[in-house]
Amino acid sequence: MATGLAVVALAAVPARSPAPSIAPGPPAGGSGRAVALTFDDLPLTSEACEAAVAREVTEKILEALAEAEAPAVGFVNASRTCGEPSPALRDAVLEAWLDAGHDLGNHTWSHPDLERTPLAAYLEDVDKGAVPVDSLLELRGRRLVWFRHPFLHVGDTPEKKSGLATHLAENDWRVAPVTVDNQEWVYAYVYQAAIARGDTALGARVAVAYLDHIDDAFAYFETRAREVVGREVPQVLLLHANRLNADLLEPLLARVRARGYRFVELTEAMEDAVYAREDPYTGRGGPSWIERWAVAAGGEPSRGPREHPWVTETYARLRSGR
Ligand SMILES: [Zn+2]
Repeated sequence: MATGLAVVALAAVPARSPAPSIAPGPPAGGSGRAVALTFDDLPLTSEACEAAVAREVTEKILEALAEAEAPAVGFVNASRTCGEPSPALRDAVLEAWLDAGHDLGNHTWSHPDLERTPLAAYLEDVDKGAVPVDSLLELRGRRLVWFRHPFLHVGDTPEKKSGLATHLAENDWRVAPVTVDNQEWVYAYVYQAAIARGDTALGARVAVAYLDHIDDAFAYFETRAREVVGREVPQVLLLHANRLNADLLEPLLARVRARGYRFVELTEAMEDAVYAREDPYTGRGGPSWIERWAVAAGGEPSRGPREHPWVTETYARLRSGR
């Protein structure tokens, strides 16, 4: 059923038209645009965390990354064993990412929300999540470097924010920012539900809308980078390990490439001086780092493009079980 839907979805994906007209093109004098790809919630987003699905999603995402010769970092919630009594399936997924040449980061043990969790409990969850990921990396002579905040929540109070930042720094863990923030998770939920119901038409419609949305998110944050930083920056895209990307990553990466991007390691993207800038944002929500730099410059953080209204409506309907 999943494979059938994937075929329909891919066949239904047109080239975007009309092309967005706001971008004056890649920055002059460089090698064009660059983006680092990151995938959160490994081994698989919780809505569909079943072993067979995790295996299939992993295989297809890694295949699409290999095809595009794109490096990525996968951010792990190590508590997710996908219905299995042991972490064997989880570790098999993580090993597959490492075998394919990608890096892994810590996304906490159980995906707590810093806004709803006392700092001490949150830090415990961070440390617990680091252990299995670090062990797998150590077996390969590497070490855990990256941390990605669940919900991109870095702290809604100065105490929480500095407490967490200090803890990460003491462990030599680097914060993985996100610049191309987006509503992929809403599309993913509706897509997954469409598959579960065998609703091929809805799946295909979500697929088309999703690819347009990611294009819109890139266009938006390219513009925002020019407004806030004065130039474009190497971008960091946030996606998740889910069925949506298993089925759509190939055309998605083709679209990104068509915007003039090459795919780079997160480490390379972050060599750009802009990533040494302070993130002064303390508050609720998790805006793009470009919006945090806007706050540093005395501006207001703005939100990126929302999902299509019919997707919002379908999401709400499905969530309420209607
Ligand atoms: Zn997450």
